[in-house]
Amino acid sequence: MNTNPRTHLGFETVAAQPPQPAVRLSLLKPTGHLTLGNYLGALRPMRDTQHADCFYGIADLHALTVRHDPGRLRALSQELATMLVAVGLDRSTLFVQSRVPAHTELSYLLEATAYTGELSRMIQFKEKSRSGDQAIRAALYTYPVLMAADILLYRPRQVPVGDDQRQHVELTRDIAQRFNTTYGPVFVVPEIVTPPVAARVMDLQDPTAKMAKSGESGPGVIYLVDPPDVVRRKVARAVTDSDTAPDAVRRDREPKPGVTNLLEILEACAGAEAAAGITTYGALKRAVTDAVVAELEPLQKSCAELAADPEHVRAVFAAGEERCRQVTAPVVAAAQAAMGLI
Ligand code: AMP
Repeated sequence: MNTNPRTHLGFETVAAQPPQPAVRLSLLKPTGHLTLGNYLGALRPMRDTQHADCFYGIADLHALTVRHDPGRLRALSQELATMLVAVGLDRSTLFVQSRVPAHTELSYLLEATAYTGELSRMIQFKEKSRSGDQAIRAALYTYPVLMAADILLYRPRQVPVGDDQRQHVELTRDIAQRFNTTYGPVFVVPEIVTPPVAARVMDLQDPTAKMAKSGESGPGVIYLVDPPDVVRRKVARAVTDSDTAPDAVRRDREPKPGVTNLLEILEACAGAEAAAGITTYGALKRAVTDAVVAELEPLQKSCAELAADPEHVRAVFAAGEERCRQVTAPVVAAAQAAMGLI
């Protein structure tokens, strides 16, 4: 009998493999048009460090946790697929979550590992429960486990995401560790990787809240599809403060959330030195506008080209999904075997 805990489940663990680029996994929800926050916090870092063992997906199942319009979900998933290719993620493995059945298969096994207490503490469920809503879907309670399955299936070492995903990755690590300790070393315990700047881009109208694609505040959100004049208008109206001191243009998150956010966006788009010499909010906003417009221009151009060639996007995803099915099937089988399923 094979008693080596590293190989008895029928697969090699990462520890046994020669050094290679870290497997990475990250998903985006098709719940709205992508924002500058999605781009700076997730898409751009994903692109800049990609290789074939980077699995990047469209989390369409996660769009079902609240009431949704099927037609809109279909259109937004298509738009997101085009955007992922347009950003330049074509050297990664791209997929739509619902087309890789292992995600929901593993999710149930992990539900049998997660505790209700830890799911009750997850922010989205907690906030919705507090609102007194009587029609909270069961999926809003269990989705963090599906998210753990999304991640653990690919056995990534790194999960490149914005800072808002910290609680989800922590839960994933807890579930992976508990599963491995209870049943054997099936999963790699991943670490969160956030970008050095703009890990949390804030809403321009309410700089204490995250810039969110499903956010209420249209004027405070820069969408990746916004044309230059719209970017200019939104940045021009960004909330700052009434400070007129010579050093008013400085990063200081607590007392100056709006100015700090603009400076972070500027630095992320145009480099660490871009704010040097800027002393007025007007000049800061002009510099931010120019930097954002320059950053978005190639992306928008490539999006327009791809919109005319939807077959290309479909083919990229079909190939990615086939690879995902191959990569994930043995991991589900290993988890099933470890739990005693025959
Ligand atoms: P979501 O919009 O929830 O589907 O998130 C997709 C990715 O974008 C995740 O990695 C998030 O952490 C990241 N993200 C979303 N909003 C922001 C933001 N305002 N700033 C930085 N990263 C963000």
